[in-house]
Amino acid sequence: MAEFTIAQERKVITAIPGPKSQEMQARRLKAVSHGVGAALPVYIEKANGAILVDIDGNHFIDLGCGIGVTTIGHTNPGVIDAVSHQVNQVTHTLFTVTPYEGYVEVAELLNKHTPGNFEKRSALFNSGAEAVENAIKLARKFTGRGEIAVFDHAYHGRTNLTMAMNFKAHPYASGFGPFAPGVNHLPMSYPFRDPAGLTGEQAAQRAILYAEKRVGAENLAAIVIEPVQGEGGFIVPAPGFLTTLTSWARKNGIVVIADEVQSGIARTGQWFASEYEAGFEPDLITIAKGIAGGMPISAVTGRAEIMDSSHPGGIGGTFGGNPVAAAAAVSVLKQIETGQPFEDAKRIENILVSRLNEMKNKYSVIGDIRGRGAMIAVEFVEPGTLNPNSAVVDAAIKFCNQNGVVVLNAGTYNNVIRFLPPLVITDELLNDALNVLDSALASQQ
Ligand SMILES: *Cc1c(COP(=O)(O)O)cnc(C)c1O
Repeated sequence: MAEFTIAQERKVITAIPGPKSQEMQARRLKAVSHGVGAALPVYIEKANGAILVDIDGNHFIDLGCGIGVTTIGHTNPGVIDAVSHQVNQVTHTLFTVTPYEGYVEVAELLNKHTPGNFEKRSALFNSGAEAVENAIKLARKFTGRGEIAVFDHAYHGRTNLTMAMNFKAHPYASGFGPFAPGVNHLPMSYPFRDPAGLTGEQAAQRAILYAEKRVGAENLAAIVIEPVQGEGGFIVPAPGFLTTLTSWARKNGIVVIADEVQSGIARTGQWFASEYEAGFEPDLITIAKGIAGGMPISAVTGRAEIMDSSHPGGIGGTFGGNPVAAAAAVSVLKQIETGQPFEDAKRIENILVSRLNEMKNKYSVIGDIRGRGAMIAVEFVEPGTLNPNSAVVDAAIKFCNQNGVVVLNAGTYNNVIRFLPPLVITDELLNDALNVLDSALASQQ
């Protein structure tokens, strides 16, 4: 078990947000664009393991990890050492001007641990959206085709191309258009909402029919899919969906891009969520959030012939693969190589799933519990129906926040609570947070 520098305990000593956070919030509103949201405006001073400490001295249990980023825990000692050392060596050269080892090492580690038994290359960037953009650039260059396909309920980022790829116009895209052309939306496999008995293969055929009729397979450069959808509410497609899509894509020369920005890097109990469907080998994988303990770095990893299809100089960016962020990523990837994070993800899954199933028996607003590893979600409905119930989610999250638990919503209908705890969270702390959620749901009966 990791050693912690901050007691792994929940402690609420003021109203939430506390007086200092309220003061800071007022200052923020005068200085920061109001287009930048704030789910819970408590201002964080420090953090360790699974605990966030705000400027009023409240200790929160973090079940969100800044959306699945600090997967190996806040202020992870290995990351602190790697970053501190690197900051004293060199902080920037631009890899495309004068390179350095850290970038190469991250690429080697990702090539080794991504699924697919073929020659691979990687390229590093700053954000998830930038990785997705570059994966698509490479797929278009490689195939000489322009169209791409994405799936309902997907989320891929906030740049112009990725806004066009998201399912939800609001809040991501409303008023920000026009958007990049060449993006086609296909029906997703959503077992909880699909007709009962629809298999993954049938759901894939539904999507394939749409792609062939609406777009034409020969016009498609790539299909982009999250093997477990993140913002969509941890939707796990029915078994067979990903492999059926892939064999169709292979036959038609279409590049398969798995967007594992949220689901990757040990989050689900495997290196990548793609590994859960036997035989599913994406051609390219986009990686970001959990890769570097909070340092900004992202990657595209995949088949050498696709990754090498760009002319030299076609791929890059000023900060991409920054030495400090790369050092953090090497530390995270090496810690995952020990295997402990996979065990932790499964330990967390067992606790979450059994506790949530207990709650499902008590609270008829719980419609579905799903996900993999430490990426588990609950979808809420009006009792006895499939009608989305976002009111119960809003109230439960508010109750959790007031009682020292940070937890996130998700879902096309905002009716999902998702759990993305750090993998170092103790059983005791996780159970304490789940007790708070239980009380939140009880208080709404
Ligand atoms: C968060 C996310 C992105 C965008 O990542 P940014 O770093 O915010 O640009 C892309 N795809 C998925 C699946 C994500 O969860």
